[in-house]
Amino acid sequence: MNLDVNTLFMVTIYVEAILGLLLLFAWVQNTSIHAVAWWGFAHLLRAASVTIFGMYGTVPDFVSIDLANALLFTAFAVTWTGARVFDGRPVEPIYMVTGAVIWLLVCRLPVLSDAVVIRALIASGIITAYTWLTAFEFWRGRDEQLVSRWPAIFMLFAHGSLFLLRTPLVTLLPWSSNSHVYNSVWLTVLSFEALLFTISIAFILLAMAKERTELRHRTAAMVDPLTGISNRRAFVQDAAQLAKRHSGKPKPTAVLLIDLDHFKSINDRFGHALGDRVLEIFTESARQSVRASDLLGRLGGEEFAAVLTDTNAEKAVMVAERIRENFARAAQEVDGRPVGATVSVGLVHCSGPVLDVPELLAQADHALYIAKERGRNRVELATLDMINALKVDAPMAGSTAVATMAAKSMAAKSVAA
Ligand code: GH3
Ligand code: MG
Ligand code: MG
Repeated sequence: MNLDVNTLFMVTIYVEAILGLLLLFAWVQNTSIHAVAWWGFAHLLRAASVTIFGMYGTVPDFVSIDLANALLFTAFAVTWTGARVFDGRPVEPIYMVTGAVIWLLVCRLPVLSDAVVIRALIASGIITAYTWLTAFEFWRGRDEQLVSRWPAIFMLFAHGSLFLLRTPLVTLLPWSSNSHVYNSVWLTVLSFEALLFTISIAFILLAMAKERTELRHRTAAMVDPLTGISNRRAFVQDAAQLAKRHSGKPKPTAVLLIDLDHFKSINDRFGHALGDRVLEIFTESARQSVRASDLLGRLGGEEFAAVLTDTNAEKAVMVAERIRENFARAAQEVDGRPVGATVSVGLVHCSGPVLDVPELLAQADHALYIAKERGRNRVELATLDMINALKVDAPMAGSTAVATMAAKSMAAKSVAA
């Protein structure tokens, strides 16, 4: 396949400029991810550099070769800077122009001014370095679960590697000569690769920015901002998913409802900010008391819930006790104040084939009510009597049902404190 190199240059300039404008336009629409603007600017710089390459013969070589290349390297450096900015790292202005400066110095060296092959190798080396650095920046930020991060890393690494392998002459070739090299299949393939790379990378980078925005929205909708754990919505969703898995392969499960004791009084005595600290401390200690595979969520205010999977009633009570004890210890003194916060826990165990978490939460709520009734800072396990009584009282509304429940709950098994 042979393609007229002039046409390829024109197409490249057009595509680079359009992609640059597209990215800048995307940034204007959502200015929260600044990297998109850097990437757009990089494409525009590349369009400018290819345009100057194209002026070969009509302007001094210093402009059409030396300056055009310097501009091209800066474009790759700007893409790299965008990757740093994307993952919250600072801009490095010196390293951003290092490639261009090295190149211009090399061009001034009398020994190298005619050593075309060496200069071309240096040029390819600079582009490879920036491209690999960009891949490295994305790889460093891999803790953020973005699917599009991986094709970006792959594309950048592959393109950087190809650049090292390019015919050294390619980087220095002007576009309007009749030299036989222009007809080489090799050059056409490489120019095409560069064109396809620039198109693909622009769309992958845009996809990364879009994916991050969506991830942030999703996280904001599902994560409690104070404690960083699932909010009620996420907890209910995760529990529903768990129930689906459970129906295929039932495992004994426990549901815990946890409420901080006299929290209003803690707020009143020590202030709302310290109250928030106490909620954070609870989350931290509860997280350490359950397994990573268990569900933990903040249902609202000072009320939390947990689902312990694959556990018998005895172990579940032990975990609930651990949550209670660890928190009492951690919240004994907060920021030098004698807070002495505690929690009450209502617990229900289920070994049946159906896992109805909302129903289990209702049962745990009654056990929690008993725990509060019996003096707080304790764990209560919902018993069969309690559950049956709950069914009888179900038509009753709110507190009436709970009060009746409390009266009937003499069978509630006291397990703690
Ligand atoms: P009990 O032992 O019966 O549960 O008593 P309590 O005081 O903990 O329960 P109550 O429902 O009367 O009070 C809950 C308090 O939790 C009232 C509310 O101001 C406080 N609260 C809810 N959300 C937050 C929060 O995000 N931060 C802080 N600091 N306080 C909160
Ligand atoms: Mg409370
Ligand atoms: Mg409460």
